[in-house]
Amino acid sequence: MRGKKTSEESSLVEKIKAVRGMHDITPARSRQWAAMETQLARLLGCYGYAEIRTPIVESTSLFKRSIGEVTDIVEKEMYTFGDRNDDSLSLRPEGTASCVRSVIEQGLLDIPQKLWYCGPMFRYERPQKGRQRQFHQIGGEAFGFEGVSIEVETLLMHKRFWEALGLSEHVELEVNTIGSLACRSRYREALVAYLERFRGDLDADSQRRLETNPLRILDSKDSGTQRVLQEAPVLDDYLHDDSRAQFELLQQKLSDLGISARRNAKLVRGLDYYNDTVFEWVSGLLGAQATVCAGGRYDSLVEQLGGKPAPAFGFAMGLERLMLMLEETEFAGLDVPEMVDIYVVVADSSYQDRAFEIAEALRNRFPDKTCYQHLNQGSMKSQFKRADRFAASYVLVIAEQEFISHSVAVKNMQTGEQQSCDVSDSYDSLFAALRFDA
Ligand code: ATP
Ligand code: MG
Repeated sequence: MRGKKTSEESSLVEKIKAVRGMHDITPARSRQWAAMETQLARLLGCYGYAEIRTPIVESTSLFKRSIGEVTDIVEKEMYTFGDRNDDSLSLRPEGTASCVRSVIEQGLLDIPQKLWYCGPMFRYERPQKGRQRQFHQIGGEAFGFEGVSIEVETLLMHKRFWEALGLSEHVELEVNTIGSLACRSRYREALVAYLERFRGDLDADSQRRLETNPLRILDSKDSGTQRVLQEAPVLDDYLHDDSRAQFELLQQKLSDLGISARRNAKLVRGLDYYNDTVFEWVSGLLGAQATVCAGGRYDSLVEQLGGKPAPAFGFAMGLERLMLMLEETEFAGLDVPEMVDIYVVVADSSYQDRAFEIAEALRNRFPDKTCYQHLNQGSMKSQFKRADRFAASYVLVIAEQEFISHSVAVKNMQTGEQQSCDVSDSYDSLFAALRFDA
């Protein structure tokens, strides 16, 4: 016998909870997520981006070689594990590396490509508002486009995202140029030469980074290190004329097209693969985790991962943060009520088979409508209550009388009108009673 546990007994069973920093998206919210994703996917489509889906797990070496060994993500945030062959695998912490791996492996780079992806990413960070361990990004990567045109087009598309989601008032664009890899390497030498002189005044992490990744010292929160940095050489002085000219052209075009962008000379991004243009869309609605969308140019990554050299520009948007912003602004476009069009009330479980036939016929005839058949036991009254909760447009009733006479009672929930439809030979009168086409 399948006895029910008393509440005392069940409270002894330890409940398994979701992993810290990883969250469910329940039905009430998933409708909003779907609406948000649909909007973004539609706009990406408008600009010629095609969807790409890559695995959530990749070789750890992919992320080490792209994001960089000495970055926060690779040093401390990746979920890394061995599979049965002891190959080191990692849950993807971001989408660009996988996308580049895929376009090389699938030979997609003969022509320019614009690709978008959407899905969960994983980083072992301290969970807080706008920062989770499993979070979602929608991102785009454009391969084979040189110059500022693709950068301008991407930012125009973002502007359209904000307009579609009612967020234009709440976002600001910050841009910067971090120069070519060559500029950065000249700058790196100068920075190291300068910092060596003050090695003793740097914090331990920064001392270590002098050898591994000196540019990361610029992000140090240590006050002693920050003091030393005040007089340090600045990247701006090491930019090639070409980087500088491209960046000026970008700023000019953005201004011509009515996109206001603020230069933030401190903006460097935490991943190694970027060069020249980098940008972030930040919002005052988000508190400390203010960046909702970020990206930049990464012209060497394809080659670095074994492909034929191809210039590239991309971005990623954090969907949890976007959702927070939409909640803050009570964006009405996401108010998607839980609704069904037809609710089929079945008075006795022995009528279920008849109900299946009718419900299937309805789904064939009205493929865009939701037809919800009541499958459990329950009084007519409780079934009508469920139908009400779903705001059903029509309730169909199969009770004893209908069952015997091969008919269905149809109630129009808006007008209260009720009629009986014969279904012994055809469903025509039933279909006609549901005035979805009118
Ligand atoms: P942050 O400065 O907030 O740590 P990041 O530079 O690490 O961001 P990117 O790798 O550029 O972030 O990812 C792009 C976007 O993805 C971010 O702007 C943010 O909206 C979102 N994002 C990144 N990490 C998280 C996280 N742990 N939880 C939720 N969203 C995140
Ligand atoms: Mg981060």
